[in-house]
Amino acid sequence: MIGCECEVCTSTDKKDKRLRSSILVQSSKTTLVVDTGPDFRYQMLRQKIKHLDAVVFTHPHKDHLAGLDDIRAFNFFTKKPMPVFADSLTEEALRRDFYYAFSDTRYPGIPELNLNTIAQEPFMVGDIPVIPVLVWHLKMPVLGFRFGKFTYITDANRIDNSEKEKIKGSEVLVLNALRKQKHISHFTLEDGSGIKNTKGIFHSYFTSVRKA
Ligand SMILES: [Zn+2]
Ligand SMILES: [Zn+2]
Repeated sequence: MIGCECEVCTSTDKKDKRLRSSILVQSSKTTLVVDTGPDFRYQMLRQKIKHLDAVVFTHPHKDHLAGLDDIRAFNFFTKKPMPVFADSLTEEALRRDFYYAFSDTRYPGIPELNLNTIAQEPFMVGDIPVIPVLVWHLKMPVLGFRFGKFTYITDANRIDNSEKEKIKGSEVLVLNALRKQKHISHFTLEDGSGIKNTKGIFHSYFTSVRKA
């Protein structure tokens, strides 16, 4: 955190250094990214990503959307709008936060986006099948995503039993677990371990783990 001098922020252990959560999912034909946080540009540069077929969003919080403007680099190479998959709540935020990309008076160099509204039904991105998993971030619905035997769930503190069924059989579950102490809208490490022990899930990696 900016300005913080706590044990974690001043640590030299690289596991204590985090960027905002996002993942890149690739098949031999298709590359997609889940969320474009404020670190999106740096993450793309760091991983030397030259091609991106789509962006899939989990929820409308700014730390998951803020980097979307930098999609324009991919537009520049493909000369095509970037397909974006988001639920209606997130779509509303995208239209508000990136109003200039949806305006009638557009100027050169702005991101070109092609919005696709998703809900809980599975969908395809190129040749990648995507299964949305609805989770709760306090009162906000958030989408987790299952790709084959890999499931990614960021910001959440509750998962309904019916949605847990969709996770079963995953070999890897990436799950947010903010810290040891209770938090109003994120799982704690202990909550996360409880879900990990749900029968049928073998490995879990926690996102956003802090020592605090
Ligand atoms: Zn700190
Ligand atoms: Zn959030």
